[in-house]
Amino acid sequence: MNLSWKKILLWSLPILVIFVLIWQGFVISSSSEINQNLFTSRMTYGRFLEYLNMGWIKKVDFYDFGHTAIIEAIEPELDNKLQKIRVELPPTTPELIAKLKQCKIDFDAHPVQDTSLLWVWITDLVFPSLLIIAISFLLRTSNSAPGGPGQAMSFGKTKVSVQMEAKTGIEFDDVAGIEEAKEEFQEVVTFLKKPESFTAVGASIPKGVLLVGPPGTGKTLLAKAIAGEAGVPFFSISGSEFVEMFVGVGASRVRDLFKKAKIHAPCIVFIDEIDAVGRQRGTGIGGGNDEREQTLNQLLTQMDGFEGNTGIIIIAATNRVDILDSALLRPGRFDRQVTVDIPDFKGRLAILKVHARNKLLNVDVSLKSIARRTPGFSGADLANLLNESAILAARKRKDFITMIEIDQSIDRVIAGMEGVPLVDNKIKRLIAYHEVGHAIVGTLLKNHDPVQKVTLIPRGQARGLTWFIPSEDQTLISRAQILARIVSALGGRAAEEVVFGDTEVTTGAGNDLQQVTSMARQMVTRFGMSNIGPISLENPNSNPFLGRTMTSNLDYSDGIATNVDLQVEKIVSDCYYQATNIILKNRVIIDRLVDILIEKETVNGEEFRRIVTEYTRLPEKQLYISHC
Ligand code: ADP
Ligand code: MG
Ligand code: ZN
Repeated sequence: MNLSWKKILLWSLPILVIFVLIWQGFVISSSSEINQNLFTSRMTYGRFLEYLNMGWIKKVDFYDFGHTAIIEAIEPELDNKLQKIRVELPPTTPELIAKLKQCKIDFDAHPVQDTSLLWVWITDLVFPSLLIIAISFLLRTSNSAPGGPGQAMSFGKTKVSVQMEAKTGIEFDDVAGIEEAKEEFQEVVTFLKKPESFTAVGASIPKGVLLVGPPGTGKTLLAKAIAGEAGVPFFSISGSEFVEMFVGVGASRVRDLFKKAKIHAPCIVFIDEIDAVGRQRGTGIGGGNDEREQTLNQLLTQMDGFEGNTGIIIIAATNRVDILDSALLRPGRFDRQVTVDIPDFKGRLAILKVHARNKLLNVDVSLKSIARRTPGFSGADLANLLNESAILAARKRKDFITMIEIDQSIDRVIAGMEGVPLVDNKIKRLIAYHEVGHAIVGTLLKNHDPVQKVTLIPRGQARGLTWFIPSEDQTLISRAQILARIVSALGGRAAEEVVFGDTEVTTGAGNDLQQVTSMARQMVTRFGMSNIGPISLENPNSNPFLGRTMTSNLDYSDGIATNVDLQVEKIVSDCYYQATNIILKNRVIIDRLVDILIEKETVNGEEFRRIVTEYTRLPEKQLYISHC
């Protein structure tokens, strides 16, 4: 419940009180004759009999089973004015009735004014109970507000953290690019819809499925789609929400979660970030965590506690399956693993199609070319990209999203915000040479991706940028391709040095050199692409509690370590030599390109290549671009 609701409640309380008070007053003053007559004068029974004998009584109304009477009598003392007087009677006397009859006095008996009494009762009851309900409601909501004062008092209750969606409204069609994962789950959906077909042949469906993959690849979305397709409720909680300050809270949350799930079965229970609770227990590094272990134990107990075919399917998501406790992965628990990875070209295209459904795209927008330019983008990145483009288009008051907005958004996602253009000076010239250095080397190398554009407009940390069109299938890269990348990454520094001399080179190449070194080292230690031979010198099972780099490189001798360093150095220096050569040979083209770049700030790939072909032949690119 949010704040505005609480405000409304707070304000409505006094109004409620006033309303009820008025209501009660109204009831008392109007609806009950007997109550109204509370305000009339009274007389004793003896005096009443006297009045009767004197013939001053005109009318008698009995109330309250004859215990009370309101009489109308002439008061001689008051100029014979007719007065209403109240008399309490002894237990009904038949003689009185006979006497009244005899004296021909009009009399009447009234039932207990139960309606009025009822009203009084109701108002007396309703008001305090309303008050109590309202107050307890208020207290409860303030308790459940995250971080609110009542937090410590309400621990153990999952009312806050377990979210239930009766209908997720998401279907398999909304999830794209992870077809294998969807196929895996098709069976789960069928089971949730028609469990009989499975149970009839004695098959039991897995209780737990683990979704493994980097953030933003659609794990949550997929889990919701399963619930949506099967038409069952979706319970979700994040692993980090299990682990609280107090020992035992997490465990009780797990119990609560399963209790609820059982009530709503068949259903999907989704535990996000399960690594937060499911880490390997008892490693001792950094001290144990009682709370986490208790929570994990409870989770295991609960998972063992229900039969496979109760219709509860637990889907957990993590991006670090390597650190999970092995007990979690045992049969009967999360014994099925489904990997969702960063999408490839086809996947990206499919995801873009899903998210382009509700966007107005101009005819010049090619989803294929977006997909080609965005290797490494997750589904969430792509969704975000299209949304950013839409926002940009709206800001420019365009009716359609054009390729311009999309290009801008891609650049922004990859390289950060656009900065102000540099003023013309020596620095700008140097940056221009640096970028053209990258671009010309990349263009003239057979195995390098083609230039998409070169720009001097700063973005993020970079003062200038050279974009290459990435070839598809970045997971399979040849040695020649990596070398070409290293050479072109060194092209920037090489150009600076050739043109300005080795005392004038700048820190601008720092990032390039980092990448170069990392690529060269991986060639040696991971991919067996050096003279050391096809050996992997990385320990893939590095301890999850220490950073990867702290434990890798430990498994081999000092001799090999020295050799690795030598090989890395050799690769880099060979490549630098190549880069310098290309710069030296093409100095005339470079000077021309730099002038154009400084004037235009941005030169696109086609133009760049056109200028280069005026001077030299372009190599025929040998790229592993997949068929698209
Ligand atoms: P994860 O749980 O893996 O971190 P999410 O499922 O939360 O990722 O994805 C975030 C958003 O990104 C989704 O709501 C969706 O808009 C988009 N998205 C991610 N993957 C896909 C996909 N495969 N198909 C369509 N949209 C996707
Ligand atoms: Mg998620
Ligand atoms: Zn550079």
